[in-house]
This record gives sequence, C-alpha cells and structure tokens, in this order.
Amino acid sequence: MSAQESARGAARVQEKVDAAILKHAHEAERLLVELVAVPSVNPLQPGVDTASYAGGESRANELLGDWLRGVGMETHLVEAEEGRANLVGVRRGTGGGRSLGINAHIDTVAPQQGRFSDPWKAQRVGNLLYGLGTTDMKAAHAAAWLAMKALDDAGVDLAGDLHIHSVVGEETMSHGIGTTAVLDAGFGVDAVLIPEPTSSDDDLFRLANTAAGNYLFSLTVRGKSTHWASRNLAIRAGGGGDAVGVNAIDKGFYIYTAMRQLEEQWAFSKRHPQFPPGAFIIHPGVLHADIGFAAAPYFPDRARFDYLLSFPPGETSEQIRREVEAHITAAAALDPWLAAHPVEFEWIDTWPPAYTDPSSDFARIALAARNDVVTALAAAPLDAPQPNGAQSDASFYEARGIPALVCGPGNLLVAHAADEYVNVDLVPAAARMIVRTALGWSGE
Ligand SMILES: [Zn+2]
Repeated sequence: MSAQESARGAARVQEKVDAAILKHAHEAERLLVELVAVPSVNPLQPGVDTASYAGGESRANELLGDWLRGVGMETHLVEAEEGRANLVGVRRGTGGGRSLGINAHIDTVAPQQGRFSDPWKAQRVGNLLYGLGTTDMKAAHAAAWLAMKALDDAGVDLAGDLHIHSVVGEETMSHGIGTTAVLDAGFGVDAVLIPEPTSSDDDLFRLANTAAGNYLFSLTVRGKSTHWASRNLAIRAGGGGDAVGVNAIDKGFYIYTAMRQLEEQWAFSKRHPQFPPGAFIIHPGVLHADIGFAAAPYFPDRARFDYLLSFPPGETSEQIRREVEAHITAAAALDPWLAAHPVEFEWIDTWPPAYTDPSSDFARIALAARNDVVTALAAAPLDAPQPNGAQSDASFYEARGIPALVCGPGNLLVAHAADEYVNVDLVPAAARMIVRTALGWSGE
C-alpha cells in the first residue's frame, strides 16, 4: 500500500468512527447520568462520614463494568483494599502494536450545598449537565466508553491493546490502592492518557505533559511557658533570658522568616523550562500557637505552621524534604534556644511531580489528536503540551516509566466546586480525541 493509500484508509476509518461517536453520544450521556447517580465519594476525604460512603466506588465500577462488557471489553476487578475495587477493561489488539491505557478515577469529592438539592441526580440545563463528579471525572468514563463503543461499532481492530483503568482513591492520593495497585496487578501499558480536565471553558482540552510536585508538611517550634508579665525578663538585657521563659510565637516567626528566605532563593534556584520563573512556592496555610488553650496571659509554649510547597519536575519529594530540613536546621543553629530545641517536622503527604517528554512520539500523537478535535470547538491549536495546574495519577504511571498525558472533557474551575457541571458536547469531542490517539499510537 502506498503512503497516500494508507492515509486515505486512515481517514476513512476515522470518518466511520466519528459517525459512530455521533450516533451513540446520547448513550454516553446516559452512562454519565447513571454514574453520577452512584455516590462514589472518596470515603477518606476530610470531613466525610466514611461509613456512609463505604463501597460506593466499587458499585460505580461494577456499573461501568457492565457497560464495558457491552462493547466487547474483558473486565477485571483489582481490589487492593476491601470494598474499594478498581475496574480494568481490556480491548485486545490483533498483536504487535503498542498498548494504550485510559485512566480515570471513579471517586469524587464530598457533596456541597449548591443550586440543586440532590448532588447525585444529574440535571441538564442547556448543554450543561450538573451533578457531583460530572467534570471530575465521570464525563471521562463516558468519553472512554463512547470511544470503545465507536471502535466496536465501526469494526476497527487495533494492533495494540486498549485498557481502561477506572481507579479509586485518587482524590486523597491513595494511589497504592488505586492506580499503583492496578499496575501492580499486571495491567501495565505502553502509554496512558488521563482524560481529566486541565483547563476551563474558554481554553478547552489543554494537553498537559507536566505538573509540579507538592508536599504538605508542618513544623512545630517549642517554647517555655511562664507568666506574660515576665516578658521583659525573658527578652531584655538584665533579665534571665531563656531561663525565665521562651515565647514560641517569637521563635516561630524566626523560623517563618527563614522559610520565606528559602522561598525567595527558590525563585532563582528552582526552575523548569515549562514553568514561569518563581512558580515554585512555600505557602504557609495554618498557624497555631498557644499553651494548649487560647489564653494571652501566658507564654505560648508551642507554635505550629502548616505549609504546602510546590516543586519542579526533575526533583524528588525526598530531595525537597532534605533541602527544607537542612535550611531550617542551619537557621535554627544560630539561635541558642532553637539549637537546643530542634524544630519538629511532620511530613504529611506528597504528590510527586509529573513529566513526560513533550517531544516524544506519544506527546506528538496526542497533540495532533487534540488539535484536530478542538478545531470543531473553535479552540486554538497548541504548539506544545502545557503544564497542568492540578496533580493527577500521571505521576504514578511515570514512576513506572510509562509516558502519561492529561487532557479531557470538563472545566477545572468547577471541579471540587458546589455546582459542578460538564458541557455534554465535550464528551463526544473527548471520545474523538481518544480514538485518534489510539489509532496513532496503537495502530491499525
Ligand atoms: Zn479528578
């Protein structure tokens, strides 16, 4: 076959699949409504009554499993934690092609009070479908199903396997029972597309190859309690100094200033070509200081700061932890009290950065697919993949050497918001992007 003939053949296949996507789009919307109706709230979210949402993720994945079997996929449940089953769908290739995974998390955040009383009863207003988990990210499941349905309908056999990884626990970064458990169970792929929204309504389908890492941590500074009126004796010449009392707020602000200094250094020392200068920050979010109860007539004997920091791809969470501790320890060494009473660190949670080479074959194929699809939506083509403002499971595929890109239907600005919605027209558009990526990557 000549190159021209094969290009014409590919265009014909795409046309057939596009027609099937159009034909079955209303069924994908029904799947989305049915998935929203299953409360698959992540039971470990802060402020959530864990017991009342037990098993919800599994029930949503069982429902999705029925739909995937209906389009010829074999399905497997991966249950690393009881009652929280991941679903894997596999569409077998004819052999010899590269496999492609579509990853979407089935868990949602907790419901919030919004304009509709029932967050699990999807409401259509114009072309917007409101409901908990519509944007984040059940529309992606509907789009992935629609892509598989259309390939099936059009009788397209790809050389590589196609996987759907519908995972639990993403909202609390519980990847060990979600995405990582699926990979551990033997469902590795050669590349993965995560159809999670990365952008907003006027900036659709921003294909993302990278995201900053982050770390949630706290530090506690100890003081020594005494009567407030002894402050002059504790801090002025002629008094007893630290032997009288040590105010943890004073010492805390010493450490706060040292952290600000490190953040200023980061504006120069932490760089990445895809991020603007100064993008990486050390954000103080909570400050708490007292003697165990709120009372001003005492020297507070503890001050705790909660921080969230972000750091560039190419550095590890472990390196960042060591750097912050070394900087604060060096600063503390200049203060006799802090030198003798070390700052206590608690490293709570980290999300590693994401990075897939933007000039790789996979990124090139996915970018072409994305640009082809958005022209119909009057969105601008992209020259290159972009950074993602949010974290995703991409990091955990990349940890296994699997290239991962993020781009999907929805609006990042309404994810985790009271009136979450998705523009239903984006579901077939995402299905077209998935199909084009699959045809380009996994071959016919
Ligand atoms: Zn999400």
